[in-house]
Amino acid sequence: MNDIFPKRGDHDPANLDLKDFDRYERAHIPPGPPPKQDPRERVLNFNEVFLGYDEEQAIVEAARCIHCPSPEPCILGCPLHNDIPTALLLIEQRRFSEAANVFRATSNMPEVCGRICPQEILCEGSCTVAGYDRAVNIGKLEAFCADWQRRNEGFPDYRIAPPSGKRVAIVGSGPAGMSAAEELMRDGHECVVYEEWPKPGGLNVYGIPGFKLYKQIIAEKAAWLERYGVRFVCNTRVGKDIAMQTLLDEYDAVFLGIGAPIGNKARLPGEELKGIYQATEFLVRANLPLEDLPARLRARPEIGKHMAVIGGGDTSMDCVRSSIRLLRQAGMCDAVVTDYYRRTENEMPGRYEERMHAKQEGVQFEFLVAPVAFHGDAEGHVREIEMQRMELGAPDESGRRSPKPVEGSNFCVPADVVVLALGYSPDPELGNSLPDLKKGWKGLFAVETEFTGATNIPGLYAAGDDVRGADLVVTAVAAARHAARAMDGYLRTER
Ligand SMILES: Cc1cc2nc3c(=O)[nH]c(=O)nc-3n(C[C@H](O)[C@H](O)[C@H](O)COP(=O)(O)OP(=O)(O)OC[C@H]3O[C@@H](n4cnc5c(N)ncnc54)[C@H](O)[C@@H]3O)c2cc1C
Repeated sequence: MNDIFPKRGDHDPANLDLKDFDRYERAHIPPGPPPKQDPRERVLNFNEVFLGYDEEQAIVEAARCIHCPSPEPCILGCPLHNDIPTALLLIEQRRFSEAANVFRATSNMPEVCGRICPQEILCEGSCTVAGYDRAVNIGKLEAFCADWQRRNEGFPDYRIAPPSGKRVAIVGSGPAGMSAAEELMRDGHECVVYEEWPKPGGLNVYGIPGFKLYKQIIAEKAAWLERYGVRFVCNTRVGKDIAMQTLLDEYDAVFLGIGAPIGNKARLPGEELKGIYQATEFLVRANLPLEDLPARLRARPEIGKHMAVIGGGDTSMDCVRSSIRLLRQAGMCDAVVTDYYRRTENEMPGRYEERMHAKQEGVQFEFLVAPVAFHGDAEGHVREIEMQRMELGAPDESGRRSPKPVEGSNFCVPADVVVLALGYSPDPELGNSLPDLKKGWKGLFAVETEFTGATNIPGLYAAGDDVRGADLVVTAVAAARHAARAMDGYLRTER
């Protein structure tokens, strides 16, 4: 099945013609950074910052791969174990569609992962070339060939297993749910995906801003899955509009990919004031066409002369960069966006690239400060944040030096809009509707192992952020693929 995809070893570099360069020459090809929008232009739009390689640029960049003797570190550094060297060799040989198929053999979302994976700690972080120069731009090359194929040929046609007669319900259409649906559909099972938001995609659509990820990709992917019979039932919250037990009764197996969507609260006085937003609400209202939102969210968020974002992860960078775009589009050139973080830049968990982009776009940063209260005006609207200075103490369980308040250091900063980007927790409602379902840390679903995703209830599987806690697209896809394999085995077992 799925034999249009090359198997590992089909394109062993040893059998391919490394005609142009030997390893030494490859090592001396200068890196070709992918072209980007100029910061002065990009703050006026929500389009992707990276413009993507053209064919000639991609070929030269791919030729920088020195094809390490196996096992190639980049393959091991990728949670999906994409066969990166083979794909890069095919790009080099102008065989872009075949290169895309190499990525698709192990990944359901190469267009997405190529754009937004933290490659510097995964494949590119393991790249041998990074030992003496900039790592090969693996992510941008992955996005290049997957885009090339999608634009020129469409997603590839699949060979589908004969219908199994089994029905699977998938709850959530994020990277985990969509990948599980794709895998199970290919195995011949009928898949119905239940989704709370109006459109499929999860955080790829309702979270990650358009300047990082072109949303049309997800819409095209969903439409393509529908062509193969996957059914998306949107605007439907399982646990409210349809009971979880109904799904367990009516389907042969159920997959839970509901993410970890609840924004953590600051738990500080004044948090309920107007003008204070949770990150996800702010981002979807700032980024998406309003018609793609449920009626209660169909208005742009407020903007103001002083916009403050609290947090240090990638979500906080998405919020400051969305804020500065809203302000500049509205012509508010002297308005300021500031990110407040309680440690120093060294301890920030988000990507360096995102921080650098934010700085280029004019975002300001205040380190070693934490809010202690939000103060409002007579109308109950936030106007100031009371801050306390912090200093770094001993490392905590995350390995980062922990922030400690400096007594008597409180001060106030002006803030007309505040966005809280303080991390995410799982939504307990659906899990609570199944009292027998085993939960783990913070109410995340407990599974046998991530290699099966099996919960303690027969036929019920889970993967993605609802098992790992808020993490990454690539880890959600990887776990969903494992779960789909286990589900296929379960569905094919006589009981
Ligand atoms: C602002 C932001 C930026 C991010 N940036 C990056 C990044 O740059 N790179 C990266 O790799 N990762 C990033 N992430 C993390 C990444 O988006 C997640 O790890 C990934 O989406 C998890 O996939 P998932 O399918 O498990 O969950 P989700 O994407 O959260 O999808 C879960 C889906 O389930 C639906 N759902 C939930 N409950 C129900 C219910 N009861 N009934 C029906 N449907 C339900 C939700 O509406 C949602 O569509 C970011 C996250 C955020 C919030």
